Amino acid sequence: MRIPHAAIPSAVVATLLAFVTPSAQTPPFDLVIRSGRIVDGTGSPWYRADLAVRGDTIARIAPRIDAPAARVIDAAGQVVSPGFIDLHTHARRNIFQVPTAENYVRQGVTTLMEGPDGSSPLPIKPFLERLTATGVSPNFGLFVGQGTIRDQVIGPVNRKATPDEIEKMRGLVRQGMLDGAFGLSSGLFYVPGTFTPTAEVIELAKIAGQMGGIYISHMRDEAGGILDSVRETIEIGEKGGLPTQVTHHKIVGRKNWGKSAETLKLVEEARARGVDATIDQYPYTASSTSIQAALMPAWALEGGRDEVMKRLRTATMKTEIQKETSRLILEERGGGDPNNVQLARCEWDPSLAGKRLGEVTKARGLEPTVENAAATALWLVEQGGCSGIFHAIDEQDLQRILRHPATMIGSDGEVPIFGEASPHPRSYGTFARVLGRYVRELKTITLEDAVHKMSAFPAQRIGLADRGVLREGLKADIAVFDPGTVRDLATFERPHQYAEGVSYVIINGQLAFESGKMTAARPGRILLGPAARH
Ligand SMILES: [Zn+2]
Repeated sequence: MRIPHAAIPSAVVATLLAFVTPSAQTPPFDLVIRSGRIVDGTGSPWYRADLAVRGDTIARIAPRIDAPAARVIDAAGQVVSPGFIDLHTHARRNIFQVPTAENYVRQGVTTLMEGPDGSSPLPIKPFLERLTATGVSPNFGLFVGQGTIRDQVIGPVNRKATPDEIEKMRGLVRQGMLDGAFGLSSGLFYVPGTFTPTAEVIELAKIAGQMGGIYISHMRDEAGGILDSVRETIEIGEKGGLPTQVTHHKIVGRKNWGKSAETLKLVEEARARGVDATIDQYPYTASSTSIQAALMPAWALEGGRDEVMKRLRTATMKTEIQKETSRLILEERGGGDPNNVQLARCEWDPSLAGKRLGEVTKARGLEPTVENAAATALWLVEQGGCSGIFHAIDEQDLQRILRHPATMIGSDGEVPIFGEASPHPRSYGTFARVLGRYVRELKTITLEDAVHKMSAFPAQRIGLADRGVLREGLKADIAVFDPGTVRDLATFERPHQYAEGVSYVIINGQLAFESGKMTAARPGRILLGPAARH
């Protein structure tokens, strides 16, 4: 039986503690987790052992640990694994309002990496300082964003960089790495990343590589041009001389479904010739980004909002844009049907959150044809824009990518304000969904594989040698969960639901989550990348 913490009067707690904590001696361990199945992150089959923590470190793992401890957790029937490491998050959305990042920690996540898709704080140092001052529950690290750097040096415009500008941008990558970045991210799908020639990205990637970082990319095209985009990502790793990662790998658009067989082959061929190329993925058949990025051509987005509005007010241009938007609804992120586009958040009209583009089109008095839906999408942009969810991914591609040994898990999520808007459920469910749906229910991958893809593999990828594996001497980031019940509850219709089945989460040796609640501890640390560490 589990007793909710709040139900125990504090006097009783004090008495209980007095029994287990003899005041005459200091217990050798702060915490012992007993009788769990250890899934250590390496991918090895589970084994039964007790695990002891002292300070922020795993002090001992042994078949039986009887030494007294300040706190003992009975994990019989449960899995004890490394805390999960998420290499792709947009957690800076709201982390200062919700510093517990509860949606993540409740899934067993203990480390969040920010700055993906080419977009990061810049400079990164003040952001990291603010995080430290705030005190957050999970550990936190950053990539420095190529898009943010280009935007600062050149602006959101479609032109080549001058040699001077390239030098400036290389300097900003260098500074980012010195300040603690783990590498360079890009979002070549977005403005201004989309205006960047491959050779320019390579010049920046070289700096990150020389300083021990990786390259991680939201690729230029995840739909019709997916194969060329994977080739480009590999080329940047190969010529830039650094590990390269296809992030949130997916195949967008019905016409392109099935191409994961070829993309995975490209990654395998690259690896066979010595290019250190890997993949991450979230376990959903819908993506999420802004309506304008998803449903407008990049050329129409050049120059920022004023320029975009000017184009939408020019009849001939608007016609051209709308034609392209119709195509994107039919063939790409629109998933072939206006109702495969769902609004997540519109600042200017919160009541639109959760509605489908077809519905909104109807509500405007129009037949929900693709053309009218395209007109509605542009109307939404004119009103102030929205973020959306795009149901345009095939389950077979998802599973094929998930099974691949070069694939790890990353949520691409954020820290939502509970109950606000209608965000993609990946923020609440990614890790629990892999364990519940893809391990237990569908048996797509094994439990050990899944844990590996969520801990040791991402840790190794960014050079976190002291986390991601359960081993004596490493940092005590630990998740305890019930493999029989762990599951995600967040859906596209009702996203604000925490995952279930995780019973304890320990971060740097401290309990951050237990008995269904976040604790008062905020044990997260700022993690610094290779150039700042050495
Ligand atoms: Zn992305």
